[in-house]
Amino acid sequence: MKHTILIVEDESAIREMLTFSLMQTGYIVLQAKTALEALKIFDDVAPDMAIIDWGLPQISGLELVQRIRDNEIIADMPILMLTARAQEEDKIKGLEMGVDDYMTKPVSIKELLARIKAQLRRSIGFKKSNVLKANAIRMDLDAHTIMVDDEELNLSITEFNLIKFFMKTPNKLLSREQILNHVWGRSSFVELRTVDVHILRLRKSLKKYKLEHMLKTVRGAGYKFCVE
Ligand code: CA
Repeated sequence: MKHTILIVEDESAIREMLTFSLMQTGYIVLQAKTALEALKIFDDVAPDMAIIDWGLPQISGLELVQRIRDNEIIADMPILMLTARAQEEDKIKGLEMGVDDYMTKPVSIKELLARIKAQLRRSIGFKKSNVLKANAIRMDLDAHTIMVDDEELNLSITEFNLIKFFMKTPNKLLSREQILNHVWGRSSFVELRTVDVHILRLRKSLKKYKLEHMLKTVRGAGYKFCVE
């Protein structure tokens, strides 16, 4: 599967150059000129990695990193920071803020590609936690199992992905568009109605364990997975 990489860079020449090189390498590239644009993208998709320029207008690259780390859906996303500043002190500040890697401009494309590859490999091997819990539900992402107390829940792949997304975003109002983009992928041709159908099925599965109340419909807005 192709990895999606987000580039956040206000200088168009650098942004275009990076986009071109990454696309040629086989990555799917998303572009943002500002941190706000990047945050808007995160409403719809969770990229596999982000390359962020430190010196962005309005909201700085470092502040954007902070916001990513505070967002449950994308908190674990590897981040490589680009900066014009070469000072050691800044580098430390960046690393303390949760940046995974760091490169000083002008960047060597060859080196950048090698570092991206290393980050993506690492993030696949070392996810922070592979067990998600919500009330009586326990999901093991490695074993691909979901348990309620001691009983295993048998779900279709779509239902499994759906509840996985809900468990990663407890108590958060999610629009059907957001659910569709995260569970089926932004480029899928699935209709919004399909989301409702699968949610109904998932709710039916949860009902056997008297847990259907966790999956709330918020009229006109979307769905919410309620966790105590
Ligand atoms: Ca800049």
